[in-house]
Amino acid sequence: MAFPHWRVGVGNDLHRLAPGRKLILGGVHVPFDQGPVGHSDGDVLAHAICDALLGAARLGDIGRHFPNTAPKWKNASSLLFLRHVRELLRDGSYQIVNLDATVGLERPKLAPYIEAMEKKVANALGLKRDQVSVKAKSGEGLDAVGRGEAIRADAVALIQSQP
Ligand SMILES: [Zn+2]
Repeated sequence: MAFPHWRVGVGNDLHRLAPGRKLILGGVHVPFDQGPVGHSDGDVLAHAICDALLGAARLGDIGRHFPNTAPKWKNASSLLFLRHVRELLRDGSYQIVNLDATVGLERPKLAPYIEAMEKKVANALGLKRDQVSVKAKSGEGLDAVGRGEAIRADAVALIQSQP
C-alpha cells in the first residue's frame, strides 16, 4: 500500500469484584475494599488495551497469548502483558498511534488516579503520554457495573505498519 497502513482494534474486559482483592488499574493500585477476581491481577484496563492492540494487528486475543491455565501468568502483573504485546507488535513491524480507553466502575472515584494510569500504560508500551487516554464512567446504578458487582473496561487502539 502506498499510503500509511492504518489498522484499528477494539477490546473489552469484565471482571467480578470481590472483597479482599487488590484493585489494580493500568498497573496502579487504587485503594478500595474490593477488587477483581481473576487468574492474573485482573487489571481490566490493561486487558482491554491488550485485546485492542492484538485485534488491530490481527494477532488473536489475550486468552490465546496469556492462557489463564498457565502457571506463568498466575497473579502476574498485567503490565507484563502490555510489554509482551508491545514486542509482538514490534515483531510485526507495527507502531502504536494512539489508545483510548474507558473504565466502568461504580466506586471509588478514579479521577485522582487517571494520570498515573496513563503514565504506567504509556511506559509499558514505550509510548508518549499524549498517545494514551484513559477515562472513567460509573454504571449509573444499572447492570453489574452499576450494582458494584463488576468492573469493566473498553479500549480502542490505532496502529500503523512501519514503512
Ligand atoms: Zn481480564
